[in-house]
Amino acid sequence: MATKFIIIAGLAVFFVVLSGLPFYTAWKDDGDERDAVDGRCRGCGYDLTGNASGICPECGATIEAIA
Ligand SMILES: [Zn+2]
Repeated sequence: MATKFIIIAGLAVFFVVLSGLPFYTAWKDDGDERDAVDGRCRGCGYDLTGNASGICPECGATIEAIA
């Protein structure tokens, strides 16, 4: 009886962790994209695709990591 409860509790914890992981990685990826990957300004989110000056035309922030 007690052993059965421990197995069920262990499975419950396992599934909670498993179901939480995609949300955590999605949130983490989203944060990384906002920083540099999708080419948007860190300060205001302005689309800096094709920007060559290294300065955001919207807010004047210096761009460090535009691919
Ligand atoms: Zn900006």
